Amino acid sequence: MSEKFNVSEIFGEYVFNDTAMKERLPKKAYQKLHQVMEEGTELDLATADIIAHEMKEWAIEQGATHYTHWFQPLTGVTAEKHDSFITAPDNQGQVLMSFSGKELIKGEPDASSFPSGGLRATCEARGYTAWDCTSYAFVRHDAAGATLCIPTAFCSYTGEALDQKTPLLRSMQAINEQALRLLRLFGNTTSKKVTPSVGPEQEYFLVDKEKYLKRKDLIYTGRTLFGSMPAKGQEMDDHYFGAIRPRIAAFMKDVNEELWKLGVPAKTQHNEVAPAQHELAPIYETCNLAVDHNHMVMEILKKTANKHGLECLLHEKPFAGVNGSGKHNNWSITTDDGINLLDPGDTPHENLQFLLVLTCILKAVDRHADLLRESASDVGNDHRLGANEAPPAIISIFLGNQLDDVINQLTSTGTATHSLEGEVLHTGVDTLPDLLKDATDRNRTSPFAFTGNKFEFRMVGSQDSISQPNVVLNTIVAEAFQEACDELEAADNFESCLHNLIKRQATEHQRIIFNGDGYSEAWIKEAERRGLPNIPSMVDAIGSLTTPKAIDLFGKFNVFTEPELRSRAEVLYENYAKSINIEARAMINIASKTLIPSVIKYITSLAESINAVKAACDCDISVQTELLTECSALLSEAKVALSKLEEATDKGLAMEEGKAQAEYYRDTVKAAMADLRAPIDKLEIIVDKKMWPFPSYGDLIYEV
Ligand code: ADP
Ligand code: MG
Repeated sequence: MSEKFNVSEIFGEYVFNDTAMKERLPKKAYQKLHQVMEEGTELDLATADIIAHEMKEWAIEQGATHYTHWFQPLTGVTAEKHDSFITAPDNQGQVLMSFSGKELIKGEPDASSFPSGGLRATCEARGYTAWDCTSYAFVRHDAAGATLCIPTAFCSYTGEALDQKTPLLRSMQAINEQALRLLRLFGNTTSKKVTPSVGPEQEYFLVDKEKYLKRKDLIYTGRTLFGSMPAKGQEMDDHYFGAIRPRIAAFMKDVNEELWKLGVPAKTQHNEVAPAQHELAPIYETCNLAVDHNHMVMEILKKTANKHGLECLLHEKPFAGVNGSGKHNNWSITTDDGINLLDPGDTPHENLQFLLVLTCILKAVDRHADLLRESASDVGNDHRLGANEAPPAIISIFLGNQLDDVINQLTSTGTATHSLEGEVLHTGVDTLPDLLKDATDRNRTSPFAFTGNKFEFRMVGSQDSISQPNVVLNTIVAEAFQEACDELEAADNFESCLHNLIKRQATEHQRIIFNGDGYSEAWIKEAERRGLPNIPSMVDAIGSLTTPKAIDLFGKFNVFTEPELRSRAEVLYENYAKSINIEARAMINIASKTLIPSVIKYITSLAESINAVKAACDCDISVQTELLTECSALLSEAKVALSKLEEATDKGLAMEEGKAQAEYYRDTVKAAMADLRAPIDKLEIIVDKKMWPFPSYGDLIYEV
């Protein structure tokens, strides 16, 4: 029944990857392209023409009729405009399939329709997409047929970045340069390039498509705006890593196959903590590839769900009362010849290069905690951060026992003389092997945790791009490396300068290390005592993009200019207000058109049955009347709240776009939304299920 396939045969089938290029490109063109990829030189038009031609031939063999420059504007999702390969050269009623080098390397979508935060006026429409040749082109198959997708960066006519990819590539350049300087200081003369590696773990929910289609809130906003938890929530922890049901397993099989064909190394899948919640993790890859692939993962999850009669919810908080979804951004720095700068080795105390890198990261994260926090902000993530299901909104670093001990030695005595070792874990069962314990346990509550040879940034939202978190990580670490290298290169005595630098950085930034329970009330107080920023909401976080510190940092490494930063802040404030406005409007619509009428029907039928009972006998009707009174009271509470919410959104919409408007939506509109939700959620528990107009939480998350 099940068709057999060989993963290694299908992997990358839809990708114009290195194997395909080697096979098809003339040797010289192939070498030129590699030089561009590795050294960042410019691709000449003659070579681009050759590559474009071969790419087109390959794509046509895959059934492609169109090509698109695939890019990542500030809308948070990917965008594309399709052109077919056809040309009609002689106007004789015949067409040819052509694709030139120019068409490959440069596209021209209308920039005025994408958010630019004031960088572009509507009349200044010109924008360019430019091929990121370090991310392979691929063919996508869908209802539109097959399309050759070319990963691109998106800039305005005047060169400002209008997307997520351009700054990412710039930040990768920054960390490459500074990390190479650092390696050279330790005698490494062979590594040619240093790149950040990223493995994003993606969480998501699956619900039945038919039920989904009955929930206007899910359709319009990606999350439920009404709904109360059923008797059973997630308190039994029985879903996490539980057996995967057949319908879900079939979905996962399809997702994996599709991703493998697209060259995305999907690796791990399991059920997550909340009912109907799951996770997918790929094998880590070069940073920009990982970002592109994560967008593809999100797209394929959605598309495949549809094929299986399911809907994939990527929102950070689809249901109140159970855990929401996030994305763990695993990050390390690796050389082209395979050295991971975050590998401590068995005896980290002796590994001075590692200790320098580690203390540089402590410094970077401590100094720019606000930027990291901002990079994980999106409207949905405000529901999670600090809500005891995801890290608090305070940035701290978990190092684990072994490294914490080394840092303590450094800060107390100035030298680290030993490293704690992993012990043998006795299982107590003769037939089971004794396991070698890691030197360090895990801490799920930490936003930024060292996990062996990488850092895991756990704050990111599930539907957000991982681009900005990596832009920030790459740039802040590049800055710390730069400062360390400046000092070390100027030193007369390298050894003693290094020793002092490591000790100083460890001492000055030890406050960012926290190994305890990040969810506890005590930590909030302790963090405040340490002077660590606690930035509770997205709106509060946006300002960190435009502080003098941020402008200086990003300017120094040409990652963002000041106008680019200001424009991004504007886009974010606007996004915030718009998103909450959509949610509020959806609530108003659903409450007035569906929920309140249903409640009135229920109340009427209740009143009618009371009258019928009264007419028939002289029995006790106190329960019915009590219900009637309670429902009527909740109904009027809902009606009052509805009018207030309408007023609040009208006022919000009339405001000028920007920070004040975003704050208004956060403080006033969100509060008015909560006031409307409360009586309606209470009513849902009382009203006859048959009369409730759409599927409940129980229907959605327990019956997939
Ligand atoms: P953990 O159990 O620590 O969460 P996993 O092996 O499950 O680690 O990996 C989680 C994610 O981290 C995966 O996407 C994986 O590919 C990625 N990862 C593993 N090692 C590294 C590394 N050195 N750099 C970046 N990401 C990594
Ligand atoms: Mg993990």
